[in-house]
Amino acid sequence: MTSFNDFGLVEPILRALAEEKYVTPTPIQDQTIPLALQGRDVIGIAQTGTGKTAAFALPILHHLQTKRLRPDKKACRVLVLSPTRELSGQITESFRAYGRHIRPLSVELAIGGVPINRQVRGLSHGVEVLVATPGRLLDLVNQRALRLDQVEILVLDEADRMLDMGFINDIRKVVAMLRSARQTLFFSATMPQEITKLADQMLRNPARVAVTPQASTVERVEQRVILTDRASKPALLAELLKSEPVERVLVFTRTKHGADKVVRSLEKAGLLAEAIHGNKSQPQRERVLAAFRNGKLRTLIATDIAARGIDVDGVSHVFNYDLPNIPESYVHRIGRTARAGADGVAISFCDHEEAPFLRDIERLIRMAIPSTNRRTGGRPNAPAPQHAENRNGGRPQRGHRQQRGNGGGGRPGNNGHRSHNGGNGHQARPSQNGHHAAPRPDASAGEPSGIGNVTFLQRSGEPRRNAGHRAPR
Ligand code: AMP
Repeated sequence: MTSFNDFGLVEPILRALAEEKYVTPTPIQDQTIPLALQGRDVIGIAQTGTGKTAAFALPILHHLQTKRLRPDKKACRVLVLSPTRELSGQITESFRAYGRHIRPLSVELAIGGVPINRQVRGLSHGVEVLVATPGRLLDLVNQRALRLDQVEILVLDEADRMLDMGFINDIRKVVAMLRSARQTLFFSATMPQEITKLADQMLRNPARVAVTPQASTVERVEQRVILTDRASKPALLAELLKSEPVERVLVFTRTKHGADKVVRSLEKAGLLAEAIHGNKSQPQRERVLAAFRNGKLRTLIATDIAARGIDVDGVSHVFNYDLPNIPESYVHRIGRTARAGADGVAISFCDHEEAPFLRDIERLIRMAIPSTNRRTGGRPNAPAPQHAENRNGGRPQRGHRQQRGNGGGGRPGNNGHRSHNGGNGHQARPSQNGHHAAPRPDASAGEPSGIGNVTFLQRSGEPRRNAGHRAPR
């Protein structure tokens, strides 16, 4: 097995890694670091949570240490573009942590939502590493506070999120200002067509590396569904927060308004929680995130967008207060727990209207999530409204998603019918056959994606714990 010492990284970096207690490189680090150290362009298909920040930060820091140059005024040697303020902040912290023994090393953060003047001052003498969101970066360039013609290494992080969030034109503008003799490290969780096109334009003879993080994530997380009524959700959440061995919990809601409502309902139940979403100011978000990170705040309510890039270790529980209507979001959400080798618990509430979302999720992850029925007035022993063939209500199927890297297509026997053995909780898995793939949201249309690669779930049974205790829905 590779250790960090095998990469030939300079001693100050190895010392910092030892202090961080990193012993073994993650798969994306194992694959990316040697290529990046050789100066190759890299396309990395990986998500937050896989260790990809260190995968690019370590070779970059090595480069800065071995090729010492004084950056010119208002210039940066390394530019890291990331879609969200939170993620940018976390990347900055990672560079500072891994580079703490490299001196001098200036790492600056340029994000919107905070006054620009401090950033202008921070850049005035030039910096080694600039981590930025695209909008603020262009503002700084337009104000002539920043020049991009000396960038030696460009990192584009979460490229697919950049596309989702409408940043692609900004990215093109930025790239046009860079010199062509540079190294580019390009990361995306998925590779929809437009992202592949962008990568083709930006990279030179790139090496490709890919990891399927959701495999281990989905496998490691203990997942449960509670079938409930919409009106019962607030009380149910409060009850579980009191009864579960919760250390640090992320609660997902579909809307910002919903997030605030959950905070208020928990308050009434005597539980402290805070919400993080797009309507909050940057200082508010930072304060809440810091409290969550340092353990002062146990319960954080978030929307999907706000949660992007939140990278907090030690999240013991993820609650899906609302089920996401995009099944991939479920995988992203539960990936917030079970980080860096830890186990986690994901509990999802599913009301009547959300039943189709649950079916789409189970089809994507190819497993039946153990469930309990807490619905009132329902028929607790009624069979679930199954099953896969027509779950989509006639929406087009995109079989090709599962053809890539799958190895599971055409598995015998399981053609999509979940069996109900008289309610004994023993389930067959949803189909392994490609023709049950769920449709993609537009943003990712076109190509198979990393998340489509939840092929890894070649499980032969129920999840580790709670296996077999599924109430029929
Ligand atoms: P990332 O995907 O970069 O957001 O990293 C996810 C989490 O894993 C972060 O909390 C990192 O500090 C942690 N991490 C990254 N690489 C390693 C490693 N090799 N060993 C242990 N933890 C790591």
